[in-house]
Amino acid sequence: MERKQGLKGLKFIVFFTIFYAFSQLYYTRNLNFTDDLELLIGEGSNLPATWVGTKDVDKNIPILILAGHADSQGLSGAGTPGEAVDKFGLNPMHPEISDELFWNLKLQKSIVKLGKKKGLNISSYDPGIRNIDDANDPRTNWSVGRKFAKRGGYAIELHFDAYGKYGVGSGLIPSFAETPNKIDESIARTFGRFPVLFRGGLGAPRRQIRILEIGKLEGLLEKNLRNLKTRQRTINLLANEIVQAFLNGII
Ligand SMILES: [Zn+2]
Repeated sequence: MERKQGLKGLKFIVFFTIFYAFSQLYYTRNLNFTDDLELLIGEGSNLPATWVGTKDVDKNIPILILAGHADSQGLSGAGTPGEAVDKFGLNPMHPEISDELFWNLKLQKSIVKLGKKKGLNISSYDPGIRNIDDANDPRTNWSVGRKFAKRGGYAIELHFDAYGKYGVGSGLIPSFAETPNKIDESIARTFGRFPVLFRGGLGAPRRQIRILEIGKLEGLLEKNLRNLKTRQRTINLLANEIVQAFLNGII
């Protein structure tokens, strides 16, 4: 009887030692996860931008989230392959689309889901067709976003910037045709700001669609997205920051 109990105790100790060792290993391997947004998204745009968003926004404003490059795969504007693929030769996340679009789509879904939960009047659009040659085809992001904005909605397209010297960093490019509003201001306070006339005025801002560059697809941000153990937490963190910026902008 006593021997049996002793064995039981020993088993317990062995079990907990192993459990402890594994949990330590697990946490150490996850140490590179950070919930510090600035550290995660890296440098913001330091281009001169003087705009300030002061226009009030109706709290029920319809919001449309677009995934950048969703209709331009295979064309020159497919989006950045990211540092992991382009510089370090890792496999793309998906064989048919750029890594940027892969993450844009994931983030789009997450933002809309969380935004709805928080009471925002928010939706998304995905053209589904990954190659539409004509930017003015009615099925493109830009055509749908433009129509949405013309009716008084807030349309925003998600992007990750190119790595290293090829990119600028995180920040919001406001609409070309509209006075920046309080949502623009709120997002810019979290992610930084680009000049309205960035690169002479891009296709989206000219159609009243905002562009949000989350950050360069490199370093800690890309590692945390690619690592299956930190992926969902990283996407949730980014989605949460964006939804919170919307909420702060409309209150
Ligand atoms: Zn992009």
